[in-house]
Amino acid sequence: MPMKLKRPILRKYERLARRIMKLAPTYSQMSDEELQQQTAIFRVRLAKGATLDSLLPEAFAVACEADKRVLGLAPFFNQITGGIVLYYGDIAEMKTGEGKSLTATLPLYLCGLTGPGNFLVTANAYLANRDAEEMGPVYEWLGLTVRSGAPNETVDETENATPDKAEIYKADIVYTTHSALGFDYLMDNLAATEENQFLHGFHYALVDEIDAVLLDMATIPLVISGAPRVQSNYYQSADRLVKLLEVGDGLDIEESDDTKSAWFTKRGIAKIERFFGIKGLLSPKWAELYRHMVLAMRANYLMYRGRDYVLDDGEIALIDTENGRKLPGMKLHAGLHQAIEAKEGVKISSESRAMASITYQNLFRMFDKLSGMTGTAITDVREFRETYHLDVIQIPTHRPVIRKERPDQLYVTNQEKIYASVDRIKQAYAKRRPVLIETGSVSMSELYSYVLLKEGIPHNLLNAHSIAKEAAIIAEAGQPGAITVATSMAGRGTDIKLGEGVAALGGLLVVGTEPMSSRRIDQQLKGRAGRQGAPGESVFYASLEDKVVLENGPSWAKRARHRYEDQLQDEKREFGTPIKQARFRNLIATVQGVAENDQRSSRAMTLQFDEIFRLQREKIYQFRDRVMADQNLDQLVDKLIQRALTTFLTPSVKQPLSFESVLDYLFNHVDYNYDRSQLWEPWQAGGAELKRYLLEVVSKRLTAQHDEFLNHDQFLYFERLAILKAVDYAWIEQVDNLQQLRQVVNSRTRGAHNPIYEYQRDARSSFEQMTHAFWQVALSNLMLSTFAMKPDGTIDVEFP
Ligand code: ADP
Repeated sequence: MPMKLKRPILRKYERLARRIMKLAPTYSQMSDEELQQQTAIFRVRLAKGATLDSLLPEAFAVACEADKRVLGLAPFFNQITGGIVLYYGDIAEMKTGEGKSLTATLPLYLCGLTGPGNFLVTANAYLANRDAEEMGPVYEWLGLTVRSGAPNETVDETENATPDKAEIYKADIVYTTHSALGFDYLMDNLAATEENQFLHGFHYALVDEIDAVLLDMATIPLVISGAPRVQSNYYQSADRLVKLLEVGDGLDIEESDDTKSAWFTKRGIAKIERFFGIKGLLSPKWAELYRHMVLAMRANYLMYRGRDYVLDDGEIALIDTENGRKLPGMKLHAGLHQAIEAKEGVKISSESRAMASITYQNLFRMFDKLSGMTGTAITDVREFRETYHLDVIQIPTHRPVIRKERPDQLYVTNQEKIYASVDRIKQAYAKRRPVLIETGSVSMSELYSYVLLKEGIPHNLLNAHSIAKEAAIIAEAGQPGAITVATSMAGRGTDIKLGEGVAALGGLLVVGTEPMSSRRIDQQLKGRAGRQGAPGESVFYASLEDKVVLENGPSWAKRARHRYEDQLQDEKREFGTPIKQARFRNLIATVQGVAENDQRSSRAMTLQFDEIFRLQREKIYQFRDRVMADQNLDQLVDKLIQRALTTFLTPSVKQPLSFESVLDYLFNHVDYNYDRSQLWEPWQAGGAELKRYLLEVVSKRLTAQHDEFLNHDQFLYFERLAILKAVDYAWIEQVDNLQQLRQVVNSRTRGAHNPIYEYQRDARSSFEQMTHAFWQVALSNLMLSTFAMKPDGTIDVEFP
């Protein structure tokens, strides 16, 4: 067992925690001023070469004392231990209510001493802002700077001046969200000058709910969208055709057993070709059409209204399948969104190009030190270790957990399950015991709400509200008589405190109405009850008709379902009888295990796909950084010009060299006013002489451009901009290409194809094409830009 290996480490950290607690009297005797001065003293020691490690005991003790004085909360022994785990770059598994927010102050203070570049990353803006506000005073009191980098949701966007990024990222410690950080990182790498880059290094990231960020969101990369793409008219026709195709073994479209992927059969492909009157649908010639067919197939057969998206005022709103929240403004990329719009017959929105993209895994891998905390990570220990080199260390709770976890209650049909769970809720409500009811989807939460209403049970329904309101409702969920229906992760990060008299009733009752696709998420829900040693109880209701069972169940379970359903119909089985047979005892755990494996391999696949993209992105970003930092670009410009001319002069089948093509090239890349009579002689001479001549024209033109500027610095600035614009132009094209390539390659998983290999091969060759395009665009930017001098001496550049 992996956990046994970690015991010695936990012991070691606990010893260190005890040492820190022994230091407490030294600091508690200090005056406020003396304590505050410790920060400066630590910083001097760091400057003199002391390591952060060596400062840990004292810095933690100082932070503990400051927590006590500023917030009135003295970190417990287990919180100090958790803080040490976090400092050393591992995952601290701490149960709900153990006080993770306070724990984070310890490692963040220590790492903040070397600021900036230290982040606490949470899953949503509300939590980032709340924690920055609540914990911020401690750091400030100790003389460190802290900011929230998350968007402020309570301020109306129109009146909210754009946040001052420079100021935010200068802070020693930044509380933010994974998406705000990723977005700013990508934007930094689209900036034209160093002044417009705001992040200062990636030193330390402490990721709250690290499982949600690294696992649940692993397959959804962050994408910055740019200009709209020319509207394709394939969506509707592809949709119409796909709806006519037949699904099933040996028919036009086949689905995998788990209904998570689908593909066209030979027969299907032939039908499509006949419909459009074409041949060779899979050939490059029809790549666009094929891509749209794939998208239409996915939209129609793999995406479900109510589960993956809802129709909201004639628009498609995606929903987060895990927590049922609407994701306003979020769009599926590379055309899937439009394909769903075609499927639903609503207006097709404009499709924008992807400008920049990164997966969260790769964002967080850039940090010198990565750590995380969560209530549940132990189920995914191996993946954290293998993929992120993070160990999970379970921190013992401050008080023993006395929550009662009841075994799962399994029924044949959904209906029986719902009745049984509502009975349980009714019993609790009669005693005014608070109940938190988790549902697997928005539609189920609405169904429960409806049933409870009919039973006359007042309740709160949480599915698509704003996160702030959600947190407020969740915080009240422990009051006597409170009944709360929520989708699975609603109000995450908010602690449920028990109201008066509730402990005597057995504490909060958590009712799960559908097992989720991973044990970890169920575990999170169970952990809502029985925090900080309080009583609590959890029970899950499941049926053979639950999604996770249908999708991942073994065939004997399927057969059993049919048999039982028949018996129910024939009244040989009494409605509402739970399934108690031994062979079903582990069914839920088994199907969840299958689903988890699937998710794991899909994450691993995303990472593999992303690897080549990451390498390319890093290459481009490094190149950009160099262009921005170099004080002399002459050499680089020379090289670019050489490369552009050489590739142009290398004849290819597509583009044989002719007098006209050289002339065109000169007009389009070098000089609009080129005097064509000059070209004849060098063209006749050909070969090296032609190249020498072209170089001469280019270099004369460059000198002429230089002369337009007052001084060399201005010219340097222009050169830099011209090159960066060219890189961005070419790279954005490439990002967009790769996005589309992913969609197509992914659906070719069947047959003799190796999708990763194909993707890598295509990605490599398109990178090469991109590089060529970059040289040419850089050349025209340098040659063809025009300038307008403004009265204040600055110059406006107009790029071709
Ligand atoms: P978690 O995120 O681990 O579920 P929170 O950070 O929301 O927990 O904290 C839960 C509650 O416990 C908060 O109300 C917090 O103020 C309280 N708390 C945390 N640490 C301490 C402490 N050392 N002493 C007293 N109360 C604490």
